[in-house]
Amino acid sequence: MNRYGDVLRVRGVSKHHGQGEYLVRAVDGVDLGLPAGQMLAVTGPSGCGKSTLLHLLGGLERPTDGEVWLAGERIDSLSERALARLRRRSVGFVFQAFHLVDELSAAENVELPVLLAGRSPRVARRRAAALLEQVGLADRARHLPWELSGGQRQRVAIARAMANEPLVLLADEPTGNLDSAATNDVLRLFSDLRAAGQTLVIATHDERVAVTADRLVSMRDGMLVDDTPLMAGAAGRLGGLIRLED
Ligand code: ADP
Ligand code: MG
Repeated sequence: MNRYGDVLRVRGVSKHHGQGEYLVRAVDGVDLGLPAGQMLAVTGPSGCGKSTLLHLLGGLERPTDGEVWLAGERIDSLSERALARLRRRSVGFVFQAFHLVDELSAAENVELPVLLAGRSPRVARRRAAALLEQVGLADRARHLPWELSGGQRQRVAIARAMANEPLVLLADEPTGNLDSAATNDVLRLFSDLRAAGQTLVIATHDERVAVTADRLVSMRDGMLVDDTPLMAGAAGRLGGLIRLED
């Protein structure tokens, strides 16, 4: 991705809803560049625009204004069809509420995006098996979502999000429904992915989650108000937020 510099970049990006006295500036003039391999945490109070920013980064929503670039391609002006294809192949999403398909087993949930991307059932099965192994759920492959704990469901959702080897993995409050043991499992998994070179963006209002990132941006009222590099390993060891000199 060096050819393009940042794998993901937004310039002057805004998402407004309504108008006049009902105008809501969910995201308001954000500039942000994300180098390949970085793990970025987006924090801030409820309603500050974290989810909207993630949706804009991954092409789930289109900006009212500004530009979104993924791997050197401007994605905010793509056709619906091209955008859907890009979401399937180049972006992985993880949500607070897991959003697994209830009728499909863990393995089938992971296979689905591979099949939708046009790969063969054999490739899909092989990838799902490898990913479930990686998230520590090889022995749960045939289980349905309701037979799994919340933490296990979220690990299946992460395996699914990784199924097409996305350029960027976007996670929106991924630990919001999890107890602390399951939260730690998910954080360990993110840190393994990051160590393997995966670019990640995690929206969270949980500081324990935020400090595991390489970099922390804070939002207020749709705007970025702070951008801080973190020493993730040290922060984890010391249990605090470490600020580096610029
Ligand atoms: P966060 O994820 O930080 O809680 P959101 O991105 O969900 O914040 O929301 C940011 C602001 O935009 C909030 O005030 C929210 O109510 C508003 N908002 C989000 N989506 C819509 C929408 N579809 N229509 C109107 N307002 C919205
Ligand atoms: Mg949100």
